[in-house]
Amino acid sequence: MCRSCGAALRQTFVDLGMSPLCQTQITRDQLNQMERFFPLHTYVCSECFLVQLQEYVSPDEIFSADYPYYSSYSTSWVAHARRYVEHVHHDFEIGPNDLVVEIASNDGYLLQHFVERKIRCLGVEPAQGVAEAARQKGIRTITRFFGTQTAKDLRAAEGPARLVLGNNVLAHVPNVNDFVGGVELILDERGFATFEFPHLMRLVESNQFDTIYHEHFSYFSLLAVRRIFENHGLCVFDVRELETHGGSIRLYVCRPGVYEVHARVPALERRERDAGYADLATYVDFAERVRETKRRLLSFLVQAKDTGKRVVGYGAPGKGNTLLNYCGIREDFIDYTVDLNPHKQGTYTPGTRIPIHDPSRIFETRPDYVLILPWNLAKEITQQMSRIREWGGRFVIPIPEVRVLD
Ligand SMILES: [Zn+2]
Repeated sequence: MCRSCGAALRQTFVDLGMSPLCQTQITRDQLNQMERFFPLHTYVCSECFLVQLQEYVSPDEIFSADYPYYSSYSTSWVAHARRYVEHVHHDFEIGPNDLVVEIASNDGYLLQHFVERKIRCLGVEPAQGVAEAARQKGIRTITRFFGTQTAKDLRAAEGPARLVLGNNVLAHVPNVNDFVGGVELILDERGFATFEFPHLMRLVESNQFDTIYHEHFSYFSLLAVRRIFENHGLCVFDVRELETHGGSIRLYVCRPGVYEVHARVPALERRERDAGYADLATYVDFAERVRETKRRLLSFLVQAKDTGKRVVGYGAPGKGNTLLNYCGIREDFIDYTVDLNPHKQGTYTPGTRIPIHDPSRIFETRPDYVLILPWNLAKEITQQMSRIREWGGRFVIPIPEVRVLD
């Protein structure tokens, strides 16, 4: 059943087979144990065109105490958060008496910039470990999932919020109607909310099938997401296209009439309609492109190994795990991968069991190719690792199709 409109789901968007949870890590003692795999089969709703994954795994299991994703390890993401805070603080005149609530506030990568400006803020973060990291930075954080019940409790305790924001969380909630209903409940009469999430149009255009994983329950076009907010009495008054996470949109919502609707909203909707996102046939072609990408990546790796090249990975992000599992890439193709996050070093990728080391390992072993798994951070990574060129090492990007960088 469609999580937005309740229609029956019949049309496959793409089926990536069975996959383990992308943010789990395998420790050395777990190497001899079995792992759970879940279907990674997405559908598109023929009524509202929401692309979605069924709730094969509950959020409690995914965002557990040891959820390993710490936003602050990405310097470009922290910089993006700082620019956002400058933008809303200035353009919407947020004052010291206003309350800012961030949903899925992670380790405080964003709210720290509000705290610096002496603005009252509160983080809502279900994962214990990252929430504790935020508290240690002096950011008030409660450890809960967000929905209508949390919103009622928070409103009673803290009053209404001038700004509610959520980055990369709307796609992560199975009950999106309860979530958006909660936003409506906690928002001040004159308040506004912003949400950032990957844009379905960019996912399809750039063939980013690896961003499909069990944490991501929904994949939004503006057409589909606007309908959800409108069903809860909220109006989309602006939209910005961003380059983060391979192409995201930031949605601005308020109660009707608080802010004037910017021309960017109908303009992007028109582009989506013109590109066919209100037509089921557009969604059906995607699956074959994904299979073709798999064949091309495997052809590259087979040829590299046949000619004696050494290939390693960079990064162990969720998207990398979808790619590795779907393509069946293990230590037979990639000797190891590396990650800046010390919580991941010394563990193994889920399903494929590729060891994860500190990035310095690459300078010690001098491989021929470094396959960048978090391709959205390719610029940052190629700069940080530019010394691989000293021994003729080259970077490889797997998406939209395999490509060796000059
Ligand atoms: Zn629907």
